[in-house]
Amino acid sequence: MKKKICILGSTGSIGVTSLKIFDKKIKNFNICVLVANRNYNLICKQIKKYKPKIFIITNQLVYKKVLKKFRNYKIKILNDFNNLNLKFDISISAIPGLAGLEPTIKIVKLSKKVLIANKESIICGWSLLKKESQKNNTDIVPIDSEHYSISKLIKDIKPTSIKKIYITASGGPFLNYKKKQFNKIEPKHALKHPKWKMGKKITIDSSTLMNKIFEIVEAEKLFNLPNHKLDILIHPNSLVHAIIELNNGIKKFIYHETSMTIPLVNAIFDGNLDISEFYKSKKQESFVPENLIFKPVSHKLFPAIKLKAKANKHPSAPIIINASNEILVDQFLIKKIPFLSIFKIIMSILKDVNYKKYAIRIAKNIKQINEIDTWARNITLKKIKEIYE
Ligand code: NDP
Repeated sequence: MKKKICILGSTGSIGVTSLKIFDKKIKNFNICVLVANRNYNLICKQIKKYKPKIFIITNQLVYKKVLKKFRNYKIKILNDFNNLNLKFDISISAIPGLAGLEPTIKIVKLSKKVLIANKESIICGWSLLKKESQKNNTDIVPIDSEHYSISKLIKDIKPTSIKKIYITASGGPFLNYKKKQFNKIEPKHALKHPKWKMGKKITIDSSTLMNKIFEIVEAEKLFNLPNHKLDILIHPNSLVHAIIELNNGIKKFIYHETSMTIPLVNAIFDGNLDISEFYKSKKQESFVPENLIFKPVSHKLFPAIKLKAKANKHPSAPIIINASNEILVDQFLIKKIPFLSIFKIIMSILKDVNYKKYAIRIAKNIKQINEIDTWARNITLKKIKEIYE
């Protein structure tokens, strides 16, 4: 029996990498449902190539255009998730931002296994995802390379034996910048990641190191780890993804080449595969590790790191920080605000008179998450207006 597949964000970096993996073993998989937003050309190509049962397109204009083009095809083109009720063996959640949360909850209800790349849905809505995964017996597998590594490193380890877990960071494009150069950063500089090819939002988050703050919260939620047991290490090689330090003096880490294909393939096939079928190593045949460099994060260059202990201090703090960051990244990309304002404005939101009122709320459902998210988006836009207009 072919395994039924659903991919949220099929035209993005994670979506396309996943489809390339399924392509190699397409006889074993049925690409049933694909979801995207506005990449018209790639949506059309994917419809012709995979002939999915359903393609969900959330952008209204693109939806109408695709619907018209494929009106004589058997495929169902939908504009929302309301009528999605197929069952899946494997689903992949890769819509960036909070926009990914509701669709992820939906596929958790319909799938046996969900591979989650969309960290924003974990940091904002983990309690809802966990509840649905328990109710529906759905296996949730994080595929952020750091969290995939942590999930393997802590397997069969007692939580009390863990002294510390380190998440590594490449340091992004500005690792070797001088402080004064940060004033001149433009989107085109921040979008040039030295190691990973990813979507725009996560690439900007990697350049500010906000991505690592989100990954710390993600690890706290997924593995029920306290903040003081988690830390960030700069590792420009991007070959070691996470390190576990045990109380017995032993440290273990997971090392693999810098490609999302590796965690994705392992998560899809539960580790039972020969990676060479999917991924051509850039290294020599025999394994000779490079000189591995690790160093602490400079708080002077990357002030976002100061949020490490704050980002999950109150129940809804991650929702607020995520929302504010999403707005600020968008505004930076359209050159409305400078790079350094991303962190400065997030800090001003944390000092706002109403911050605590929202941050201490426990969001019990999507409506409540959206209320907190909306407050944070509006106050962020207000602050941008006050400063830059
Ligand atoms: P991309 O920007 O490359 O792709 C985003 C995908 O989501 C596209 O298919 C896009 O459609 C679709 N999309 C965006 N908004 C919506 C929406 N409102 N409704 C439906 N579809 C939507 O992102 P990435 O693949 O880089 O990242 C996806 C997620 O995975 C992020 O949360 C990121 O943090 C996480 N992640 C990514 C990694 C990577 O290597 N890329 C590594 C680890 C985590 P369209 O193109 O049609 O507009």
